[in-house]
Amino acid sequence: MLQNESNDNDRKEVKGDFPVSFHYTAGIAIEKVWKGFVDKKLLATKCNDCNYVYFPGKLFCEICFEEFSEEDWLNLSNQGILMTYTEVNFDMEGKKLDTPIVMGLIKVDNADTYFLHRLIKSEKGKNNNFKIGSIVKLEWNDDRKGSLDDIKGCIVI
Ligand SMILES: [Zn+2]
Repeated sequence: MLQNESNDNDRKEVKGDFPVSFHYTAGIAIEKVWKGFVDKKLLATKCNDCNYVYFPGKLFCEICFEEFSEEDWLNLSNQGILMTYTEVNFDMEGKKLDTPIVMGLIKVDNADTYFLHRLIKSEKGKNNNFKIGSIVKLEWNDDRKGSLDDIKGCIVI
């Protein structure tokens, strides 16, 4: 039997601590890719059956369901093509950003999938025009800990 949940008078408040902790994992494949970032590696997987290349690497092929083994992992260059991009003006809570962020969808060389990351202006400032089809290069942070933030962003080269 269903109870009427709309009557607030029937609810009781119990104060106290609720000691629950969580540990999230990104998953086996993504953790391997992120650990590769520490050594400036872009770890991908190539399917032996259909030749599709995934970056970031995966545990199995989403096309033919071939399971990948250790031999199917390869390191890609840190360069690719800008497929599309957009300017982000608000944060996750809807608050306007002081400085907009430009996000780009990048097809890393030899990969068949796309990778989303920030587009940043090069320090030299010689080529800061983001255009679809531009060749971009991933820039690494000096202090890398094995996360997506190990990549500073992508610059147009
Ligand atoms: Zn496949």
